[in-house]
Amino acid sequence: MKEIILCKYGEIVLKGLNKPYFESALTKEMKFRIAPAGEFDFFHSQSVLYVSPRNDECDIDLAVELAKKVFGIATVARAAECEKNMDAIIKTAVEYLPEKLRGYKTFKVNGKRGDKRFPLTSPEIAREVGGAICDVMPEIDVDLIDPEITAMVEIREDSAYIHAGGERGAGGIPYGTCGKATLLLSGGIDSPVAGYMMARRGAAIEAIHFESFPYTSERAEEKVAELASLICEYTGRMRMRVISMTEIQEEMTKKINEEYFTLLLRRSMMRLAARAAKAGGAITLVTGESLGQVASQTMPALVVTDSAVDMPVLRPLIGMDKEEIITIARKIDTFETSIQPFEDCCTVFTPKHPKTRPELEKVLAEEAKMDFASLEDKAFANLRIREIRRAIDT
Ligand code: ATP
Ligand code: MG
Repeated sequence: MKEIILCKYGEIVLKGLNKPYFESALTKEMKFRIAPAGEFDFFHSQSVLYVSPRNDECDIDLAVELAKKVFGIATVARAAECEKNMDAIIKTAVEYLPEKLRGYKTFKVNGKRGDKRFPLTSPEIAREVGGAICDVMPEIDVDLIDPEITAMVEIREDSAYIHAGGERGAGGIPYGTCGKATLLLSGGIDSPVAGYMMARRGAAIEAIHFESFPYTSERAEEKVAELASLICEYTGRMRMRVISMTEIQEEMTKKINEEYFTLLLRRSMMRLAARAAKAGGAITLVTGESLGQVASQTMPALVVTDSAVDMPVLRPLIGMDKEEIITIARKIDTFETSIQPFEDCCTVFTPKHPKTRPELEKVLAEEAKMDFASLEDKAFANLRIREIRRAIDT
């Protein structure tokens, strides 16, 4: 018996004339992402992407797990494929479904006749297959109103497919279909979640990380690389640029009034991030900031940060509580890594009394006390690039 994977579209079904663009992006992404599971053929019809193993070497369990992390898919169902006649359908259903239905008390079968030339109607298909299942599984009852599990028999163009429902997919929009963004990635809880959320909405993501060696350790950077790799479970790959803030911060401790330290550091990081973004073809910045979470995230502080760059700064977590952010961090498996205690370059010289209601004019006057531009040129010239992959690809 041949098993295949049916990936039902999420929001792509709402796309009008642009649908083919999203479909082909989805297919391309799926091909790349499930490649470690073997060789598959791909085709789409009626808002489903069919993923069909080319040979026995394919690891279907692995392919399903990987497909569940591809954005653009609402449900992922493995299904038995058979010829489009009732003998073959019943034989396959009786072979394939009992294992899936075992343990449930009630079930029903839904028929779906996508190919209207098929001689039986949808209810007739359901009735015949349901009857055959009852014959081989006397322990389970039919309940048409409120069954514990619903099996499907779908008659499509080329074949019939039999399955017992799907698992939830990653949702969202195919990766990279909505433009490219540069994510400011720290080792904290928030920024990995922000990157995941933007990628889920179709942004292609590059990361930039600021370190402050030797005030921050090499191990701290590895933690960030690990977080980037966990985001790659959903994006497949990611380029991470690493820039050292050490000289800038050392100069700041000499020249800058302590209460402006964090704000001016953040403005400097924003300028460097915007330069990195332009170098990588990204058109927006993304941060993990959430309104009011810390002193540098009050509204006046965010205004001061934004005014350092001429590029939109997207903050997908802006209206979320920490608890809601943590729920997502746990779901995408970054939480445990994020809470490992390593220093971040933002925290190594933290002032005791940061400004929470900064005025831009005073900030600019303070900023003029030192030559940020030339130190930033130097930091940018020394940036390192790291190509990050998912665990399965390394
Ligand atoms: P996170 O949990 O993401 O570290 P946070 O609540 O600790 O966030 P901040 O340290 O003020 O907040 O940082 C706010 C945002 O600035 C982060 O979400 C991230 O986007 C960016 N950021 C902070 N530190 C760095 C860094 N070292 N490298 C790159 N981006 C950073
Ligand atoms: Mg942080």
